[in-house]
Amino acid sequence: MKGLPVSPFGQTDESALLEEIDRFLASGAHQDNPLRDLLVRLLTLHRQQNERLLRLIHLSDGYHDLGRMQSASLAQRLERHLRRLEKLARISDRYQDQLRSLNDALLKSSLKDPLTELGNRRYLMERLGDGHFPANNPTEPCCIAMLDVDHFKRINDGWGHEIGDETLKHIASALRETIRHSDIIGRWGGEEFLLIFPATELAEALVIAERIRQAIMAISIPHPLGPVAVSASIGLTLRRHDEPLTITLNRADEALLQAKRTGRNRTVTD
Ligand code: GH3
Ligand code: MG
Ligand code: MG
Repeated sequence: MKGLPVSPFGQTDESALLEEIDRFLASGAHQDNPLRDLLVRLLTLHRQQNERLLRLIHLSDGYHDLGRMQSASLAQRLERHLRRLEKLARISDRYQDQLRSLNDALLKSSLKDPLTELGNRRYLMERLGDGHFPANNPTEPCCIAMLDVDHFKRINDGWGHEIGDETLKHIASALRETIRHSDIIGRWGGEEFLLIFPATELAEALVIAERIRQAIMAISIPHPLGPVAVSASIGLTLRRHDEPLTITLNRADEALLQAKRTGRNRTVTD
């Protein structure tokens, strides 16, 4: 109900009736009418009621407007709140993405040897402990080899630690270039590398190990003191799936020791 109505009743009917009553009361002809007093009181009461009703309508209109204003500002506040929440959700999504990629990068770097960029010992152990890793398929043969650089201490002592590092990087490249796509290599620690040949019999693995040994022998790092020559010894063994991994690794180590004992720069199988 907008705007202030003059009367809550039918405007023309009421005005006309009130005017008629006023004329009736003003007329001298009805001064002694016993109903005149009653009519005056009724008319006064009617006017009071009418005013009260108008005030009520006024108030009700006011409340209605206030309610509308309040619900409009509430809707605006809600809208602003929603926009702020959406912004927060976007920021939180971005942070989560950044955290996820940071976590991925951390995980990758925790599995990588920074010098050679090969997988580290942790990476190798994770692969060997993973049931889905092809090397752990019990229906397939798998070979494991431990490779150790020969007289590496001499390289460090003779040409310096930096050339020693350089040599390890060259060896890592030679390994990467020589292995097959399915083979896995990593730096076991120091100047030792672990090689995994999934789905490979011992005879076939021996051929690849020998190829690797030749590739390492072909490394030549130029230096003013003379080129750095390098060789490696390899201990190779067939993984038995019914034995603990440490037993396989110990057997590869034993074979490596045998290669060292019998003159180095060779592959020994066990
Ligand atoms: P062997 O033929 O019996 O294996 O003799 P070796 O000299 O290779 O073996 P030894 O264990 O006596 O020496 C290994 C050396 O490798 C000692 C260590 O300082 C060095 N070494 C280990 N890690 C690194 C590395 O990251 N960088 C360099 N430059 N040297 C390293
Ligand atoms: Mg060693
Ligand atoms: Mg060594």
